Amino acid sequence: MADVHNKQTRSYNMSQIKGKNTKPELMVRKFLYANGFRYRIHVKNLPGKPDIVLRKYRTIIDIRGCFWHSHSNCRFGDNVSTSSEKITSRRHSAIERDIIKMKKWKADGWKVIIVWADCQLEPRRKKSKVRERTLLKIINELKGENTCN
Ligand SMILES: [Zn+2]
Repeated sequence: MADVHNKQTRSYNMSQIKGKNTKPELMVRKFLYANGFRYRIHVKNLPGKPDIVLRKYRTIIDIRGCFWHSHSNCRFGDNVSTSSEKITSRRHSAIERDIIKMKKWKADGWKVIIVWADCQLEPRRKKSKVRERTLLKIINELKGENTCN
């Protein structure tokens, strides 16, 4: 299948590779902070340097770009195919790393909230109902409240 990315999408995805302080990360951090949650970021002494760590809640928030982490059945994720082997192998190693990180975190007793950056936060939109719902859900999960989807 052909590479369906247009130039703009591709350069956006490329900009997300390094994955530090990305727009989606900042959106989540800003929201948590505004709601009184305190956290540490890119915590070096935990496996995989998790994006956001809330020790008080024994919770790690892992923000994953849909494309690079191959979100399943997602229009930004594994539904986007690429003809580039380099990109494909990069995506595969991201999946492997995610599995390993997840196992270590769970083994250490951390609760993990995964946030899919592109479809759940819609970072390129000024306003997004989906983003609002995602952010509220994170807070509900932190507080241990049951949420209905
Ligand atoms: Zn997604």
